[in-house]
Amino acid sequence: MATTGFPPQPEQDGQPGKEYIMHPLPQSLNPDYKPSNKLLGKIALVTGGDSGIGRAVSYYFTLEGATVAFTYVKGQEDEDKDQTLKMICKLKVEGAKDPIAIPTDLSYEENCKRVVDEVIDVYGQIDILVNNAAQQYYTTNIEDVDENRLERLFRINVFSYFFLSRYALKYMKRGSCIINTASLVAYAGNSVLLDYSSTKGAIVAFTRSLSLQLIEKGIRVNAVAPGPVWTPLEAVSLPPHELAIFGSQVPMNRAAEPYEIAPAFVFLACNVCASYITGQVVHPNGGTIVNA
Ligand code: NAD
Repeated sequence: MATTGFPPQPEQDGQPGKEYIMHPLPQSLNPDYKPSNKLLGKIALVTGGDSGIGRAVSYYFTLEGATVAFTYVKGQEDEDKDQTLKMICKLKVEGAKDPIAIPTDLSYEENCKRVVDEVIDVYGQIDILVNNAAQQYYTTNIEDVDENRLERLFRINVFSYFFLSRYALKYMKRGSCIINTASLVAYAGNSVLLDYSSTKGAIVAFTRSLSLQLIEKGIRVNAVAPGPVWTPLEAVSLPPHELAIFGSQVPMNRAAEPYEIAPAFVFLACNVCASYITGQVVHPNGGTIVNA
């Protein structure tokens, strides 16, 4: 279980961050988790599935019987991608198909379309879309946030959620679902994550509005808003003095491991568990009470 505060991390060459060089290593699987075929026969696409929360979601979906396709950023995340693919192959249940890892930069609409096309080419269907990719930059001053930076961040953190949903929906049937990764900072704010927290607020509004648009089609749209979780996103973007207190801002006074967040995605993805839930946000955040 992760604690409060982490040591300085090895320097990384930009975002997205690499998990395999972090110390301590994030934990993606809880050995006490007992799967029960909740997603048997489903095809899931998870963006940013090579590491962190996306890796844990890919593992838990696989344990629950789904076939998983995940995206990663080539050149930055190859080692994490290899480790994730290897583990998914090990966890795969009988009848599930082999996983695929799709290299891409999701900042662009055409790439989002290509990713969906590849999933359809390989599996012929898509039942669950998890929009999870993101970057995050530390800033204490709004002066640091210029047009380029703001546009780039919204492209990755928000535009890709729109575009992937748009293209995946062409193939989704009644009973399919979309799950977006939001964040506690969309609700609580964060003075040093100004542009990032703004993208997460947009994701909450996107989730609510799209859910209403898709009610008639029988497609559910929900979000998960984690609190602090020990992942490459934090290791690569927070300065040492912030890492030293990471997790202390929530009532449980510690950060989560990715495996503590993934079951919320399983719950929302599973029609037997969440058939009456759409437009909602689940809050695995260490006890912070939020008003929505
Ligand atoms: P992570 O670094 O493991 O995952 C982020 C992923 O985004 C990467 O794996 C990468 O593949 C992908 N990505 C980044 N830039 C991309 C690009 N240009 N094109 C395609 N993919 C790109 O970190 P994480 O913390 O697991 O992040 C997963 C999600 O969880 C994010 O949406 C993040 O905002 C959210 N979140 C994290 C925390 C936390 O404390 N770690 C808290 C709340 C929400």
